[in-house]
Amino acid sequence: MIVRQKLYEGKAKILYATDDPEVLLTYFKDDATAFNAQKRGSIEGKGAINCAISSHLFRVLEAGGIPTHFVAQVSTNEMQVRAVKIVPLEVVVRNIAAGSLCRETGLPIGTVLPKPLVEFYYKNDSLGDPLLTRDRLFLLELATPKQVDHLQTLALRINDILTAFFQDCGITLVDFKLEFGIDRNGQLILADEISPDTCRLWNQTEDDPTKRVLDKDRFRHDLGNVEAAYQQVLERVLNSKL
Ligand code: UDP
Repeated sequence: MIVRQKLYEGKAKILYATDDPEVLLTYFKDDATAFNAQKRGSIEGKGAINCAISSHLFRVLEAGGIPTHFVAQVSTNEMQVRAVKIVPLEVVVRNIAAGSLCRETGLPIGTVLPKPLVEFYYKNDSLGDPLLTRDRLFLLELATPKQVDHLQTLALRINDILTAFFQDCGITLVDFKLEFGIDRNGQLILADEISPDTCRLWNQTEDDPTKRVLDKDRFRHDLGNVEAAYQQVLERVLNSKL
């Protein structure tokens, strides 16, 4: 595969064209941002760790019947993916209250939700990725009603698979963000990445609310040992028998 021009550089990844128009190359960077890029930094080794975790989780999800853009991990920091048109939505699934759900509703952090909550945010940096209502989503024509129903179904199936997978790793999947794309056949497929940058992951053997955090909240809130936490997630993911 010949790597051609850079198509897009985001906060954590760079996307390149290849000689195959159906396949793109994603390069995972060590750069980290938080709070809509107001906080910037670098987490040593993050690119390689997130590339390996994401690749593994995409394989797990494919095995569970979820269509994804994953083709292959081709080097420490590089993943081949199928070319898709990204749907401008961030689909967040929550099992336990944390982050913006607590800030915006007053629910105490750690509240176990009676059933998983699926929320749609507008993927738009200049607007700060606002939470959407269904009617606003339709008003902006970001997806059709049929697509929204399908996204909701896929998100819940992904949550079931990932919750069971992380449970086996001794990790609680608190919440996570998904992005989807539309392939050349018009099919919705899972895209982007699934990593400690995009999930909240709590170590089940730690009760201490600071020590249990194994995800980007360590970077967001300056909790320290960010690399070690990401590395621990990678080791547990690769050691899982699921
Ligand atoms: N998330 C993400 N990218 C974003 C916003 C959120 O990956 O641009 C993830 C975040 O890591 C968490 C989940 O989505 O796992 C829910 O995030 P939340 O809405 O609580 O936002 P935050 O508290 O991070 O501002």
